Amino acid sequence: MHAALFNAPYEIEIIDYPLPGLKPDELLIKVEVCGLCGTDFHIYRGESYSKPPVIPGHEYTGTIVEKGGDVKELKIGDHVVIDPNIYCGQCSYCRSGNINFCTNLKALGVSLNGGFAEYSIVPASQAYLIPKEFPFTSAAFAEPLSCCVRGIDQASIKVGESVAIIGGGTIGLMMLQLAKISGAGKTILIEPNGFKRNLAVQCGADFVFDPGAVKIFNDISDLTNGGPDVIIECAGKSNAAKFAFDISKRGSRIVIFGLAEKDDTITVNLQNFFLKELSVKGSLLNPFTFSRAVELLVTKKIQVEKLQPVISQLDQLKKILSLPRNLEVTKYQITPN
Ligand SMILES: [Zn+2]
Ligand SMILES: [Zn+2]
Repeated sequence: MHAALFNAPYEIEIIDYPLPGLKPDELLIKVEVCGLCGTDFHIYRGESYSKPPVIPGHEYTGTIVEKGGDVKELKIGDHVVIDPNIYCGQCSYCRSGNINFCTNLKALGVSLNGGFAEYSIVPASQAYLIPKEFPFTSAAFAEPLSCCVRGIDQASIKVGESVAIIGGGTIGLMMLQLAKISGAGKTILIEPNGFKRNLAVQCGADFVFDPGAVKIFNDISDLTNGGPDVIIECAGKSNAAKFAFDISKRGSRIVIFGLAEKDDTITVNLQNFFLKELSVKGSLLNPFTFSRAVELLVTKKIQVEKLQPVISQLDQLKKILSLPRNLEVTKYQITPN
């Protein structure tokens, strides 16, 4: 089969890759769509724990074409979407239910072969059934959405609370929709790119702001009685995280969701932190949130087609990874077959 093999930083090539045989608990998936995300750019640049050679691609969906003898719940021909994160079940975190902290985590498309290939072998435990009529291009958002579901859980939004989302990429736009169905009152999205601000309006944002706008702090404060109740940072940048603290008010809850660069830091005024009684949370991976993400997609509660994914062939992958990022594309998807 054709597969994109990551060999070393900045080296990815399309090769003919031999498929091994299936183990009893595994499925052979014909990959229909595999999304690209920031993690793939990190892998390409050698900035992740991914150990080459490996086939990247961790946001994928496809059709079961073969199954091992122990697979009970799924059948050949089923359409499935893959949760790439495989927890060990043996470490102290797994055993206390905190599987996202697993010290032996493996991930399809990061440390194990993933979805930038015509076919992929996955443990059946990682495959979630989707309806036959549901588009693969939408199903491929299940993995990033499952991480956003974790993030929105961390925010504990109460009905009617004001919510600000910082960053209007795929994650910010899905988080915005999650905040709305969680009962948010006013929703505010802050994003420098006009194209993405426009998408945010289409996704239901009540107010959008360019972070460089004059008076932005006053405007957000006026809209929210001093500051948003909940602030979710989805840009993965230190200035965005700082912005979250700057617009907070007494009692605000902040979720730092975006993955920043390794050495990014911010300083926080401790007296403000004390006086505002801020709550700050992180959000890591997708512990037990994948089924909920699939449910939100198939019931169209989260409308990912509004993010307008751009679809390319497998041979375009290297070009997409090596060119400077086109800010007007929120999501690239690859159709390997
Ligand atoms: Zn991803
Ligand atoms: Zn573990």
